Amino acid sequence: MTPKINQDRRRPRRHRPPSGPISGASQSPSAPVSRTPQSVQPSGGAPYSQRHDGRRFDRGQKFDGRQKFDRGQKSIIVARPTPLGRLATKTENIGVLSELAPRANGEKLRVYALGGLEEIGRNCTVFEMGNDIVVVDLGLMFPEEDMPGIDFIIPNVEALKDKLKNIRALIVTHGHMDHIGGIPYLMDKLGNPPLYTAPLTAGIIRKRVEEFPRNPKINFVTVEHADARFNLGANFIFEPFHINHNISDAFGAALHTPVGTILITGDFKFDYTPVNDEPADLNRIALFGAKGVLALMSDSTNAESPGHQISERTVGEELEKIIANAPGRIIIATFSSLLTRAQLILESAEKHGRKVLIEGRSMNANIELAHQLGYLHYQPGTIIEEGDWHKLPPEKLILMCTGAQGEKNAVLMRIANAEHRFVELKEGDTVVFSS
Ligand SMILES: [Zn+2]
Repeated sequence: MTPKINQDRRRPRRHRPPSGPISGASQSPSAPVSRTPQSVQPSGGAPYSQRHDGRRFDRGQKFDGRQKFDRGQKSIIVARPTPLGRLATKTENIGVLSELAPRANGEKLRVYALGGLEEIGRNCTVFEMGNDIVVVDLGLMFPEEDMPGIDFIIPNVEALKDKLKNIRALIVTHGHMDHIGGIPYLMDKLGNPPLYTAPLTAGIIRKRVEEFPRNPKINFVTVEHADARFNLGANFIFEPFHINHNISDAFGAALHTPVGTILITGDFKFDYTPVNDEPADLNRIALFGAKGVLALMSDSTNAESPGHQISERTVGEELEKIIANAPGRIIIATFSSLLTRAQLILESAEKHGRKVLIEGRSMNANIELAHQLGYLHYQPGTIIEEGDWHKLPPEKLILMCTGAQGEKNAVLMRIANAEHRFVELKEGDTVVFSS
């Protein structure tokens, strides 16, 4: 799959980033390196022509991922530390494969999925080489209509039961249930390996396992920087890279092995103007391609459809128009984990003098957690308690709730069926499905 990224960046790109902070920044004299992958190509002008310390980088140099580099030479490509880049590339080491290659010893790398292929949910993929096993994601799947009596489905991890001592890590790419939902039920069965994930995802998992007090305590290793590297046994080095998703703190995982690098994208999109987040780290992704990728494991909902996902920022502009013009109360249904959308709703509410009541247990829990961890921002008093709902005039109210897809137990369904404890629809209300 290596050539894919390489070829893509040599073609003219259909979807250019809007002229905003990204392209603006790349033109500024103090910032010679563009963030976009096409800038990596040798004929593309200034990009990568300088290290941050001013020494020239040799443009003629080609990486095929198999060259040997002295340890002293390792850190040779330095992308511009970008103003937006909490997780953006700072330094890039290229010695990984030569470090690992002597260890191959004819061992084979085995990759197998215990869930998540050709189905939506219970994502779980296993990477095994020699005496080392790395598991990526441990999700659950909600039942289909022909599975009465089933609450949810989790991966079958029996295949690993005799190899627990070899499991070096569970890497969790982001906090959606189809990636974390199996953890309370299966972590013990995997021998409770260290769990590598980002801070928000760790918070969501902690919250979830609170309901399972008898489980062994999870040993979290927090992944906070894209230039972090983790040795997982003798055969794997894990390197996260930042991507966009509709939940904050999602990352893709590069797994360097003695036989090559595997890129696992996790669920992802590219958003050049994300909310509460930085754009995906295209520099780093392009660098993986330049160095050589053995396999790209990529999955994204509706990836078969041509076109480009609209930016969360654009969704926010549309939402704000509705909030600005609605005559009475506004009831907005969205997903409990769609925290960027919650941020947009809270921002618009503040701008237009409305207060927000949040209905739905999971939505309340996620918003509280994200606020505590600094991923969600709002003024004190913007979020109101249920007792305030009938005290404020209709044009000052927003109800943010679950049920954007008509889920049968969600708040919106209860309101629609007149079964909600204190909210009933009336004339002048605006109902928004924001999925
Ligand atoms: Zn997801």
